[in-house]
Amino acid sequence: MPDVLILGGGFGGLAAARELRAAHADLDITLVSRDDHFYMGFAKLWDLAGTRPLAGGTRALADLETGGVRFVHADISAIDPAGCSVETTKGSLSADAMLVALGAGPSPAHRALLDHESAHDLYDGRELPAMHEALDTIEDGRVLVSILGGPFKCPPAPFEAALLIDERLRARGLRDRVGVAISTPQPVTLPVAGPDASRYVAGFLAERDIELFAESKVQAVDGAGRAVTFADGSTVDYGALFGVPAAVAPPVVVKSGLTAESGWIEPDRHTLATEFEGVYAVGDCTWIATAQGALPKAGVFAAAEAVVAARNIAADLVGTEPARFDGHGYCYLELPGEKVAFVEGDFYAEPRPDVQLTEADHEQFQAKQAYEQERLSAWLD
Ligand SMILES: Cc1cc2nc3c(=O)[nH]c(=O)nc-3n(C[C@H](O)[C@H](O)[C@H](O)COP(=O)(O)OP(=O)(O)OC[C@H]3O[C@@H](n4cnc5c(N)ncnc54)[C@H](O)[C@@H]3O)c2cc1C
Repeated sequence: MPDVLILGGGFGGLAAARELRAAHADLDITLVSRDDHFYMGFAKLWDLAGTRPLAGGTRALADLETGGVRFVHADISAIDPAGCSVETTKGSLSADAMLVALGAGPSPAHRALLDHESAHDLYDGRELPAMHEALDTIEDGRVLVSILGGPFKCPPAPFEAALLIDERLRARGLRDRVGVAISTPQPVTLPVAGPDASRYVAGFLAERDIELFAESKVQAVDGAGRAVTFADGSTVDYGALFGVPAAVAPPVVVKSGLTAESGWIEPDRHTLATEFEGVYAVGDCTWIATAQGALPKAGVFAAAEAVVAARNIAADLVGTEPARFDGHGYCYLELPGEKVAFVEGDFYAEPRPDVQLTEADHEQFQAKQAYEQERLSAWLD
């Protein structure tokens, strides 16, 4: 029986496993992941906002076995794309085809900037208890959300976080004493989603009295003095700093020879095939060029690409119909009061992505909840 190795148990790996298992009883599928559980990135913000504890959106990857996918809980230490094989802490594995969906990690330099008691990595689920404590105990000063560099995962998430933090401080009756601010090295809030979406977000920030420091790259963090210095030499004080590190490809991917000069795997943007026969790559570990940059590092894109890659793997192995990714995708932009705006369109359009924004409402918040529940149950129940 032809076999497939899926590297990574996140959005990309799980969507591919599900697609292959549902359509092909004649394939042997193994998924390898260092994490033994999965939750969606936005579940961390729901925990921070008090919408729902993280555990409520977490599923065990061992549940893959019930659906007929072999799960190997192991760390991958080497990838041989020419041999379609990997070395792991549980031994060597090889297959007829391989999907690389290993995501991205935080820039080590940016993690080092946040190595202070007063600073936190907003994107690290393990820091949620410390972030809750900071928001529960702050009495004055400013909560500063800082995007430390790009590319970073889920472009709207830092802005969503600033708005949710504002809401939480309002609930504590503290907003006249505690400021909320967000800094970004980018000139506008959401360049990847276009000028309308950027203005929309900036409007919400202004309405909520959240300061926006645009074109402000954090150069240094004084953890004891609680201040950041931007590249232009100006400084901003903070009471609590929630940083968003730039994303980098996992070291094991960089070592494998799969990455291009960009530091990312650059598969064919329609088929997701790499230059190595039988090896495909999707999600945050890739760089997929668009007319004005690259596809956002977002789970929705990782999952959509993975379905296409899975169909192409099946086409190679058992001769079924291949598929093409057309660059259509969407992002949820969550606002306080359980409302979600929707940014959707053709990210491959020329001369610029053709993306439209639908204003926030509660129905779209419910659609986001349904997206999570439907995927969790299709992938892992
Ligand atoms: C706060 C926050 C909010 C977000 N909100 C949204 C949102 O609203 N919508 C959206 O679309 N996206 C959102 N995202 C982004 C989304 O989470 C990522 O884009 C998505 O997880 C990428 O999927 P992936 O499959 O490429 O990688 P991941 O989901 O990160 O999966 C990577 C997998 O590889 C495994 N792995 C990595 N290295 C190794 C190794 N050496 N050995 C073994 N296993 C390894 C990991 O354990 C993991 O299972 C958000 C992210 C954050 C942080």
